[in-house]
Amino acid sequence: MVRENLAEVERRIQAACERAGRERAQVRLIAVSKTKPVELLTEAYEAGSRDFGENKPQEIKEKYPQLPSDIRWHMIGHLQRNKIKYVIDKVCMIHSVESVRLAEAISEEAGKRGIVMPVLVEVNVAGEESKFGVRPEETEAFVREICRFPNIRVEGLMTIAPFTENAEDNRIFFRKLRNLYVDIKAKNIDNVNMCNLSMGMTGDYEVAIEEGATMVRVGTGIFGARSYGQI
Ligand SMILES: *Cc1c(COP(=O)(O)O)cnc(C)c1O
Repeated sequence: MVRENLAEVERRIQAACERAGRERAQVRLIAVSKTKPVELLTEAYEAGSRDFGENKPQEIKEKYPQLPSDIRWHMIGHLQRNKIKYVIDKVCMIHSVESVRLAEAISEEAGKRGIVMPVLVEVNVAGEESKFGVRPEETEAFVREICRFPNIRVEGLMTIAPFTENAEDNRIFFRKLRNLYVDIKAKNIDNVNMCNLSMGMTGDYEVAIEEGATMVRVGTGIFGARSYGQI
């Protein structure tokens, strides 16, 4: 089932790239495997997936040793400072930086291991009260503030668009994030290398690709629905 789902997602990604005049290689598919058992991740791995997204440090910690070491793990969920130590040596990127204190703490943990952690700034682009993320109008100042921490490198922006039945509703938010990204990139801020736009989930990744996503995070579309109560 996972293999068939992946093939379908792949087909749609390619079609979206074609519509947008983009190369398939410009978009990375992250298989969001939160709440799913290792067997299903293995199926995705065997079908070619190498990028996996999780939103709980504990889950990364448990799955990591059970799966091949060439997997790139992405931390995509809200991260508490006291949990950074569980993921700092396992993930290739943290997509969900939305406070100065979190950025500083990630830099500190990365420093202890002698690494520089790539991070994305999570932007609450639709201004939803229930969501984490910095406000669009504060994003540049936020980037300027956290870029001084020596052991992180800001590599772009991420957003979780509103839940909607109609993906087209989110086009304005993806466009807004892209514009913000382009503006900040043009400032050439020290220690900032704007090269990633992480946006688009199962319901709206094709629209996100049309609007410039370089990373899409697809869970349900690959692994099927998550059980009730698990987000
Ligand atoms: C769960 C999750 C996804 C994937 O959601 P689907 O709708 O199942 O594709 C993407 N991004 C984040 C941050 C998530 O928590």
